[in-house]
Amino acid sequence: MKQPDYRYLFGPVPSRRFGRSLGIDLIPYKTCSLDCVFCQLGRSPRKTLERKPYTPTADVIAEIDHWLKSGGVADYLTLSGSGEPTLHSEFGRVLDFLRDQSMPSVLLTNGTLLNLPDVREAAALAHVVKVSLSAWNQKSFEWVNRPHRRLDFRRFFEGLKQFRNGFGGRLWLEVFLLSGINAMAGDVEKIATLARELRPEHIHLNTVVRPPAEDFAVAVPMAQMEALAGLFDPPARIAAGFKITRSQKVKVDEANVLSMLRRRPCTMKQIQAAFGLHINETSKILSYLMQRNQIRSDSRNQEVYYRFT
Ligand code: SF4
Repeated sequence: MKQPDYRYLFGPVPSRRFGRSLGIDLIPYKTCSLDCVFCQLGRSPRKTLERKPYTPTADVIAEIDHWLKSGGVADYLTLSGSGEPTLHSEFGRVLDFLRDQSMPSVLLTNGTLLNLPDVREAAALAHVVKVSLSAWNQKSFEWVNRPHRRLDFRRFFEGLKQFRNGFGGRLWLEVFLLSGINAMAGDVEKIATLARELRPEHIHLNTVVRPPAEDFAVAVPMAQMEALAGLFDPPARIAAGFKITRSQKVKVDEANVLSMLRRRPCTMKQIQAAFGLHINETSKILSYLMQRNQIRSDSRNQEVYYRFT
């Protein structure tokens, strides 16, 4: 059966942490409060703190409702996508709708707006909230996450703590490590000390898998990641890797992407446009093909091109 063309839904996509996850994208491409050097979607052209209904909430809910009524099944229903979902001023309405469904909801957020009481209240409607913490002070926040100029690391971390203290659901933490930037044991220890205050259920250590926004964002070797994981409490799990079963649809998309790259090198956006995939789906497929050494990437004229090996 042909899938209807949804504007705000993508997948279900295989996710390293969430099994089969239906993506719900509330925000235009790369509308974010941060511009992380490791961002796999490229640089943020619109770094912003402005909260507004970037997409019509009723239309998003109608699409989810249609997907559910058509027999859609996933392990998680995930607010994620191509920007920071808490910038959408009505993301709580979407989470409220998801609360009544049989599949658990997840909010993937960079956490920078959790210092606002109404953002905390809306975020607390999710079953799982995954926040990110890859810095330990303002300076490291600026190196790694390049925040909007009005964001202050201490206020950001206070927001995370306030959310933790009022949240009855499951809090997960992601720490993104980059060689030569924030992966020295002493620095990771500082992040781990802050992480302890958040009492997360799980901590995931991540590093560069797909080409990042900046060439200087370099992956941390696996042996070093494993040693650093032990600094956290609970010990962190290493997220880099792709060990889940892929659906038939994903396998078909992989084969199509590979056959296109066999003919000519392409950017992520060209692949996305050619197959009508969401940017996150495209990114995951490229990541999988790179890990199997079927393709490689290189930079030309400030663009990352993928080519068949
Ligand atoms: S990694 Fe996430 S938080 Fe960082 S710039 Fe990209 S979308 Fe924004």
